[in-house]
Amino acid sequence: TQQQYLRLQADRESQARSYPRRFPLVIQKAKGVLLTDLEGKTYYDCLAGAGTLALGHNPDVVVEAIRSALDEQIPLHALDLATPLKVRFMSELFLLLPEEMRDTAKIQFCGPTGADAVEAAIKLVKHATGGGAILAFQGGYHGSTQGTMAMSGNLSKKSRLRSLLPDVHFLPFPYEYRCPFGVGNGMTARISAHYIEHLLDDCESGIADPCGVIVETVQGEGGSIPADLEWLRQLRRMTAERGIPLIIDEVQTGIGRTGKMFSFEHAGIVPDVIVCSKAIGGSLPMSVVIYKEELDCWQAGAHTGTFRGNQLGMAAGLATLAYMREHRVLDQVNERSKQFFEALERLKARYEEIGDVRGRGLMIGVEMVDPSLPKDGLGHHPPSGELAERIQERCFQNGLIVESGGRRSAVLRFLPPLTITEEETAAVLEIFEKSVVEAVE
Ligand code: PMP
Repeated sequence: TQQQYLRLQADRESQARSYPRRFPLVIQKAKGVLLTDLEGKTYYDCLAGAGTLALGHNPDVVVEAIRSALDEQIPLHALDLATPLKVRFMSELFLLLPEEMRDTAKIQFCGPTGADAVEAAIKLVKHATGGGAILAFQGGYHGSTQGTMAMSGNLSKKSRLRSLLPDVHFLPFPYEYRCPFGVGNGMTARISAHYIEHLLDDCESGIADPCGVIVETVQGEGGSIPADLEWLRQLRRMTAERGIPLIIDEVQTGIGRTGKMFSFEHAGIVPDVIVCSKAIGGSLPMSVVIYKEELDCWQAGAHTGTFRGNQLGMAAGLATLAYMREHRVLDQVNERSKQFFEALERLKARYEEIGDVRGRGLMIGVEMVDPSLPKDGLGHHPPSGELAERIQERCFQNGLIVESGGRRSAVLRFLPPLTITEEETAAVLEIFEKSVVEAVE
């Protein structure tokens, strides 16, 4: 039974990951947005592999692509050698790039995870610029390796490790709702940009010799916080003027999640380095770094690894990208996004426990607050991780899986498949509302 499986697993598996405790189900099957447990109960999956499953679970085109790749006896492991599949995948991916990069950008296949590609991107800019400090953002998340953790803003997870990469400086992210400068009122982005420019130029106490800036255009694990678009343009201008490579971490935002294929397109900017993982492998582990030709300064052997370029991931990723192009999935993302935001804003107007509703595309966060505690200087109650957890638990009981994140885990995060239908979205929102009511009252 489900209970026995859970007990056996809990006996042996470490608790380093909290999902199995928070969502105690044994998944038997999965299709589209739905998971089915051992007892036949179904759940709407708005975690979707932490934003990996662009087309949902087991999309027909992906299953078919994997099956025919196996039938054709493709090399399951090809190291870095050429294969027809790899070339087709690269061609489809390059079609998505901004014009400025389409014909000239370089790609590097990395290991299976997003963190692996972030590590490669950092090494790349260090090689290209000759070292120096990495600039990252407060509240950002880039992975769980030592290097990527050093660039992530979550102190509670890294403080026990004491020493990580030393040369990381944190810049203020334009988090409007909890404005780090205590002003809000649409001023957060302007002050943040001004302050960053000051740090770059202050020769007395600024940041000397940076080798790159790494940023998420929407902080994911940080609580679905979208960066102001004008701020992103300013960041691009400031880094370009000073010859500092701009790395955009598209691990979670990329491949349509925000309503554009790459999230930086919203701001009309072109980064120097793009990091992709999650959805790019069409459900399977894969990651890549794409960068401007002039940064291509690797010496042979400078960045190696056995599992670079998962051939089945390329088959699944190619099928995913082709499906998205042919079926105009981005249009669907934008329609469903509107549906989510309208309903969540209505809910926010009714419950003062909902402090903020934000995000971009189908990367949406709802920040829960505790109205019994005094408001901060910006007029907002403090975040309530405890309430978010209660709602998450009610959602789970009611058949909906949502992730939590952000400061004090007070943000409930929706990352549904990009192909979630209007009816499925309505069902998800109905369960969410019911769960909020149950948890609050
Ligand atoms: N960057 C971002 C923006 C992410 O959201 C994540 C994963 N949530 C990572 C990097 C790390 O990816 P992985 O977990 O595959 O190492």
